[in-house]
Amino acid sequence: MEYFDIAIVGTGPAGLGVAFTLLEKRPGLRIIIIDRNEFSSGGLRNDCKMNFSWPVGFPEDDWDAGSAGRYLDRVEAFLAPEILARKGIDVYSHRAERLDVRLLEIRQAHLGTDGGLALIKRLVADLEARGVALSLGEKVLAVDAALGVMSTDAREISFGNAVIAPGRAGFAFLQDVMRANGVAFVDNVVDVGLRIELREERYPIVKDYYDPKFLFPKKVRTFCTNSRSAHVVQEKYEDEAGLWYSVNGHAWSRDRPANGLANFAMLKTITLTEPLASGQAYARALGAQAMLLGGGHPIMQRVGDFRLGRRSTRDAFTGDLYDFAPTLPSCTVMRALWDAMKALDTIVPGVLHPSTVLYYPEIKTYANKPVFLDPSTFLAAPRLYLAGDGAGTSRGITSAWASGMRVADGILAG
Ligand SMILES: Cc1cc2nc3c(=O)[nH]c(=O)nc-3n(C[C@H](O)[C@H](O)[C@H](O)COP(=O)(O)OP(=O)(O)OC[C@H]3O[C@@H](n4cnc5c(N)ncnc54)[C@H](O)[C@@H]3O)c2cc1C
Repeated sequence: MEYFDIAIVGTGPAGLGVAFTLLEKRPGLRIIIIDRNEFSSGGLRNDCKMNFSWPVGFPEDDWDAGSAGRYLDRVEAFLAPEILARKGIDVYSHRAERLDVRLLEIRQAHLGTDGGLALIKRLVADLEARGVALSLGEKVLAVDAALGVMSTDAREISFGNAVIAPGRAGFAFLQDVMRANGVAFVDNVVDVGLRIELREERYPIVKDYYDPKFLFPKKVRTFCTNSRSAHVVQEKYEDEAGLWYSVNGHAWSRDRPANGLANFAMLKTITLTEPLASGQAYARALGAQAMLLGGGHPIMQRVGDFRLGRRSTRDAFTGDLYDFAPTLPSCTVMRALWDAMKALDTIVPGVLHPSTVLYYPEIKTYANKPVFLDPSTFLAAPRLYLAGDGAGTSRGITSAWASGMRVADGILAG
């Protein structure tokens, strides 16, 4: 059985943050990174917008402004992205304040989906050049931290320390690992909402602020805004209970032609309490219900029809009733979200144009909350660290990378 000082599961930003930080400080370590996909599957390869300001992406149970800020400085120094200028947003901030809405001012970079893929290729080549064993297309099935053994669909590996960073899609796998290693956890928070697609000219703030973060009352927020060459996509989730879809969005970089559209999510955070305690099970049930109503697809609705209290028919998406065709045409809505959208339409007039499309559901489950042995390093059991979105320690690319760095600092100090 081959031995590695560090075995990392997941080539997302959390896993990469661990590897690069360890390599920088202790280049002689024997490190393996394993991913079930041929390429990192997360946000690095989907739009790749990076946020460098507290609190975006940081669960406040695990981070405070000071620690997040120090790690964000390190992430930015390593990735060295071009920070986008923000201008002319005072008018929006002032309108927002009058409605009890906050517009956060965030340092942002945007690579686009194609730019993100180029970044991944560069990082992967760099890891290999530094002697890291990289195994893509290999799925980790189980981890026994007490024995220091990991089994995959191809072999067994022994390790000194394991870092499990499987992202949101590895949610169920991570729960298996936690149960097998005696790590207690809760999974009771889920974000549910809509993706809104509209003509860019009706959400002109995006010309001055790529991903504007509005925080509305009742835990509703805008999230993941894409523009210029923007598309709505569907994400497939599959587990033993069946198949369901969530919508999402991304945009291409400036190298691709513009389509004049923008999209963003409007999400509401729901915290479940006993006896309904699993956010994952709740998300799955909502997803399945939407599939049923949508004939096997997410549900889509024109704002014009929604205001009239009726479901949009096929003609609303294929004919000339409205002034643009949706980018995810295969698809067949909540009071707090609708209130937030009306407020947004006052702050940026035009958002609720009759042609605007609402897609449902957009669901984010990042709510595995392990009970850490050492919360400062995300050590969950002896020799077992958990990082990234799957473990609830982050909610975005830069915070996932920061969580990986925090784990690496813990390993180096141990
Ligand atoms: C479509 C989309 C667009 C997004 N856009 C953005 C954005 O623009 N900006 C932003 O900040 N965030 C964005 N996000 C969120 C972002 O992707 C995540 O916050 C971030 O990638 C989390 O990093 P991670 O390392 O925890 O997990 P991930 O990046 O998800 O990486 C986890 C990796 O682990 C692998 N894995 C899982 N289970 C196993 C197993 N059993 N064996 C081996 N490998 C396994 C997966 O294949 C995956 O590659 C987006 C997410 C999606 C889905």
